[in-house]
Formats: sequence, C-alpha cells, structure tokens
Amino acid sequence: MAGCASATLFGLTWPWPAVPVVAVVGLAVGCWPILTEAWADARRRRMSMELSMLIAIVAAAAIGQWVTALLITAFVLAAEILEDLSLDRGRDALTDLMAFLPQMVQARVDDTVVTIPLEQVRVGHIVVVGPGGRVPVDGAVVAGDSTVDQSRITGESMPVDVSVGSTVYAGSINQVGAVEITAQRVGDESSYGRIVEAVRQAQSSEPPAQRLADRLAAWLVYLALAGAAATYLVSRDLTATISVVVVAGACGIAAGTPLAALAAIARIARTGAFVKDGAHLEALSAIDTVAFDKTGTLTGGAPAVVRVESAGGAPDQLVALAAAAESYSEHPLGLAIVAHARDRGLPVGRAADFVYRPGLGVTATVAGQTVTVGNRALVPDAPPEDAAADAATVVHVGLDGCYAGSVVLADPIRHTASQAVAELQRQGLRTLIITGDRAATAHAVAASLGIDQVRAGLLPEQKLAAIDSERAAGHRLAMVGDGVNDAPALARADVGIAMGGGADIARESSDVVLISSDLNDLVRAVAVARRARRIVMFNFAGTIAVDLIGMLLASFGLLSPVFAALVHVGSETAFILNSARLIPRRARPERDR
Ligand code: ADP
Ligand code: MG
Repeated sequence: MAGCASATLFGLTWPWPAVPVVAVVGLAVGCWPILTEAWADARRRRMSMELSMLIAIVAAAAIGQWVTALLITAFVLAAEILEDLSLDRGRDALTDLMAFLPQMVQARVDDTVVTIPLEQVRVGHIVVVGPGGRVPVDGAVVAGDSTVDQSRITGESMPVDVSVGSTVYAGSINQVGAVEITAQRVGDESSYGRIVEAVRQAQSSEPPAQRLADRLAAWLVYLALAGAAATYLVSRDLTATISVVVVAGACGIAAGTPLAALAAIARIARTGAFVKDGAHLEALSAIDTVAFDKTGTLTGGAPAVVRVESAGGAPDQLVALAAAAESYSEHPLGLAIVAHARDRGLPVGRAADFVYRPGLGVTATVAGQTVTVGNRALVPDAPPEDAAADAATVVHVGLDGCYAGSVVLADPIRHTASQAVAELQRQGLRTLIITGDRAATAHAVAASLGIDQVRAGLLPEQKLAAIDSERAAGHRLAMVGDGVNDAPALARADVGIAMGGGADIARESSDVVLISSDLNDLVRAVAVARRARRIVMFNFAGTIAVDLIGMLLASFGLLSPVFAALVHVGSETAFILNSARLIPRRARPERDR
C-alpha cells in the first residue's frame, strides 16, 4: 500500500501523467500561504488548523486523490480570505473612526486666523470651527453659538446647542454657527484621541477569551488527529481518515473571537464609552456588582453652594478664605466654592502650602492663617449637621485649627443616574455606593436611586479595602468613580470605570472611560459586552458540536473528504458571520437599546 501510494504520488501509475503534474503545481501554489502559516505556527509550537489541513492535503495527494487535495486547498484558502475580509471589516469600522479628525485646523493668533496642522495645536490655543467643520480638540466655547452633533463621541444622536462656556469634544461636527474654542485637551489626550488609542490597543491585545479560543482550537485539532489515527487503525480506510482530519474546523472560534471583541469595542466607542482593551471587555461582560462613588459620579459633579453658616465672622469672608484654600482643587466641591466666591465678586486671596487629602478635604495657608476645608475628620470641633441637611453636602471650614463655619452645598443627582441604576438592576446587577461622604447624605442618595447597599465615610484606602472585601466575597465588580480618591479602587476593581469629566488620574487608573460622564453609556457598554460574550460562547459550543458530529460521521465513512471540507468551511463562515453581527454600521451612529 505504501509503495503504491508513493508510486501514485510521483505520478507513475497515473494513466495520464499531465494530471498529477498540473495537480502538484496547483497544490504547490495553493498550499504556499497555508504552508507559511503552518510553519509559523509550528515554530511557535502552536497547533493550528493550517497544520492539520496540510496533513490532510498531503495525505490525500499521497493516495492519489488529487481532486480532493485541490478542493480542500481551495476551501482552506477561501476560508482564510473570508477570515481576513471579516477582520478587515471590523478594522475598517475602527479606521473609519480614526481618519475622522481634520488634518489642518484654523487657529486664532491675536486677531488673525491662521491655518495650522492639527498636531501643532496646544492646550490654550483658540481654534475656529466653521459651519459643517469637525471639532479637532476638547475644549470650551469662547465665542459664537451653534449646534453640534456629538454622536461619534457620546452616541447622542440629537445635536446639542452650544454657546460660550459649553464644553465640546473632538470628533463632533459643528452644524450651523461658527464657534471659537479654547483647546483644553489635544491629540491623544482628547476624548477622541483616547478612543483611537484604545482601539489601537484593542487590536493588539488578546483578551482571555481569545487565549481560550486558541487553546480550544489547538485542542480540537489534536482531537481530530487522534480521531483520525483511531479511524485509520480500526478501519484502515485512508479516505475516511482524511475526512476526519478535514471536518474538524476550529477557525470559527479562532477568527470569530477577535472579530467579536474588535466589533464590540468599536460599537461601545460609538455609544460613548471606551474600553481600553479586549481583556477589559471580557471582564465587563462578567461583572455581577457595580459600585458607585457618590460625589461627582452619581451626583452631577456641578454642586452649588446653597447656604453659608458662619460661627462668628462675616459669611462672605468665610467663603473668600475657603475659596482661596480650594483654588488649586479639582474636587467638585472645591470648584463649587471657588465658583460661588467668584459669582459674589469676593476678593479671593492667594493660597500657599496647598495640601489635598483625598476623601477628607484641603488645607492651605491664606494670609498667614491655616485654612482647613473638609469634612468632620479635618475639622473635629464642628457642630453636628442637622437632619435637614441630609440630602445636602456639608463642608466645614477651620481657621488655625478652630471651627469657623460651614458651607452647605446642594449636589443634585445626575438626571441619568436613576435610569441607569434601574437598568443595571434590571440586567441583574447588584449596586452599591462606596463614598467618602458622610452616611446620612449617602443613604439619602441611595434611597432616591434604589441602590442596594451603602458604605460611607471611606478614605481612599478604605475604598480599596471595600473593593477587596467584595472581591473576597466572590463578587466580580465594576467600580465607577471620578476622583483622585477613587483611583486605587478603580485600579483594583475587576473593571474600573471613570467618568470622562473626572480627574485625570481616575481616567488613568481605569479600564473603561465614560467619555461624556453619562451613566447610561455604562448600561449600553455592559449590554454590548454581554452580547459579545454570548456570541463567543455560542461559537464555542457550535464549533464543538459540529466538529464532534462531523468526526463521528467521517470516521464511519459517511463523509467524503470534499464534503467534510464543505462542512468545515460552511460552519466556519456561519460562526464568523455570527460575530460580524456586532460590527457597528457605517454611516449612522447607533445606540444599543
Ligand atoms: P466621594 O467618595 O463621594 O466622591 P470624596 O471622597 O471625594 O467623596 O469626598 C468625601 C468628603 O470629603 C466630601 O463629602 C467632603 O466633605 C470632603 N472633601 C473632599 N475633598 C474636599 C475638598 N476639596 N473640599 C472640601 N471638602 C472635601
Ligand atoms: Mg467622587
């Protein structure tokens, strides 16, 4: 038999010698790409589909089944092309996203407008965007009124009105008016740049599901080879043996998994959140608990001073001192006190020795006095807050270590919060508040949002400990936060989610950023991540089922090698197309549920 096979291989027993010659040339050409991939896989000690297909092709050729060998080659090549095409489509959806910003922008220098390349724009530059123009930077409008379409960044399909003071994001489209914008974040720092960066990373990183997919694919190939060996030993039927090798196709999961991850990240980016890479997408799909920071996350992040209680001196002077101490603060409460002082036209002095103690407050030296602004832990002799202030946030002011008064701030809950919390709970997620604020305020917020659990009065390391204890209890949790004090907890949670408008370090420490600080974007991101997971799992299960049934039929000689190749490529196509359903549509940005 072996002698016969090799004789056939060299075309000696073939009635018409031209056929094997043509076939060998065809196989050599067709198999070349398969061979190079198989070689690369073999060198990385990875068992792959190309390797097993090559074995099958050589085996078919060896027993003189030239047509079979050529057809299998054609099928494998078709599958590779399909795989590339679908991945390209996934990447296109992303490149489409990247190529969007204008190359040249109009900038105002003194009184003239000049055209400069985008990469020369720096923070503080004034850029001019005409009607229909694309906004190139994140910044604040300093002149003009217009409406802008922010759908690429926030997913919000309704254009929003902007006027002096409004924030606009790179990647949105100006519609009717002309606006001048001071650049606040440019290039990679802008919300758009961060999406692009995230997407780039997503393309290069392999999520755990991907590694699992590779392992599973390799395992299926081994199984096919073992099944083939068993078939040959039992039946001595080489054709059936080849069918067994050919039918087991794991490409559907090997190619379908990265495609699903890529497409899901692009889709989530369209809705207004960015996921830093595939591993985080995977983690997001598996969470069972969402922990929220309160101030700046559940509340609007734009609190307002409603009352000033002075222990002795003039309230305005107290506010002026507090504002001076907060002048370097980026905490929403600090910003509110500074804004309040400015609105009242108070003379705000200069602060020295500024120290921010996350979760507590600030201290600074103002006009020779040590000013402390913060909670009870920093100003221990403050009188107890009255119950009427429960829903409000109270900040105490100390002068040279003595209580001098309090500032009461209303920090309204974001209008998106209650809908988002309700929706997350409807998706079966547990919710809790992890806050540095006092318990009364936290409970008032939790009650109005229907949040399940509250942990209040926590310092940053206690927030971290709270995350650890949740994880130790077996929960997989996402932490949503905005502040410096949230950074450690964001980094430690299974998924750290930062509000786009929050502190830089919060965004740095997190895995997902809600660009426009809209909590509904989180709901949509979780939904998409879960959908991607379902698709990948379906592909896993489907591939295993098809392979096992196919191998069984093939081993009993019920599947010819060509038909086996057809089943392989057909099922692979189905699974890749299943993943491709996640690719966001081109022209119109869309929202998920
Ligand atoms: P959350 O965890 O809800 O975001 P924080 O931990 O940021 O809240 O703040 C907790 C508490 O610490 C605030 O309620 C406030 O009393 C005090 N605090 C923090 N930062 C400041 C600040 N810059 N100025 C005044 N008080 C502050
Ligand atoms: Mg906060």
